[in-house]
Amino acid sequence: MGLFDKKYCDICGGKIGLLGNRKLDDGNLCKECSKNLSPFFNERRHSTVNDIKDQLDYREANKAEVSNFHPTKTLGAGSMKILLDEDAGKFIVTSSRRWQDANPDVMDFSQVTGCETEIDENKNEIKRKTTDGKEVSYTPPRYKYSYDFFVKIYVNSPWFDEIKFRVNSSSDIERKGSVEYREAEKIASEIRSALTKVRQTVRDDIAAANAPKIAQNCPLCGATTIPDENGCCEFCGGALNV
Ligand SMILES: [Zn+2]
Repeated sequence: MGLFDKKYCDICGGKIGLLGNRKLDDGNLCKECSKNLSPFFNERRHSTVNDIKDQLDYREANKAEVSNFHPTKTLGAGSMKILLDEDAGKFIVTSSRRWQDANPDVMDFSQVTGCETEIDENKNEIKRKTTDGKEVSYTPPRYKYSYDFFVKIYVNSPWFDEIKFRVNSSSDIERKGSVEYREAEKIASEIRSALTKVRQTVRDDIAAANAPKIAQNCPLCGATTIPDENGCCEFCGGALNV
């Protein structure tokens, strides 16, 4: 096995150039094929050729989902945005302005298992220059702070379980409680409530479907009956809620 042994992609069969190989558990993947994987996927090294083939099939099918996606709301001030299709109960997270061409993963609100905000504090010391040009600390030391707001969405998907993105535009938050800080806080909580609200609706629907049935008197035959799945009397078949 020399350094210049040629490698071939186990997906498309193409020759893999120098530095172009993406190693898989049991094979090789070329750069071009790896571009078609989900941007939220990071388990490539632990994936088999078949895992990758399955995911590429899913990614291909996702294109039809993208063409049926009609955003009703866009949230986020950073390069990544979350687009909601509230009528269909679906969402995408993308940094692409022309998202229609980027094949972003279309997910159901019901795939969301959790959503949280993470605030990162970045601290950089401000130093002063002495007359001979050396950088020294102030006494006491002075710092410049900046804050970044991230939203972390946990999703139930075979290909990835977490989507994390910054909601504020880069390093414009210098102070806790500033206008920019509060704005980022607001965006993060809007995203959280949008995703958890629909999640709650889905849960409520499931709960309603599983709710214990209550016996009532049939107005048609007079029997005490537990409505069947169509809301009808189990004895005479008459509709109970007319
Ligand atoms: Zn390939």
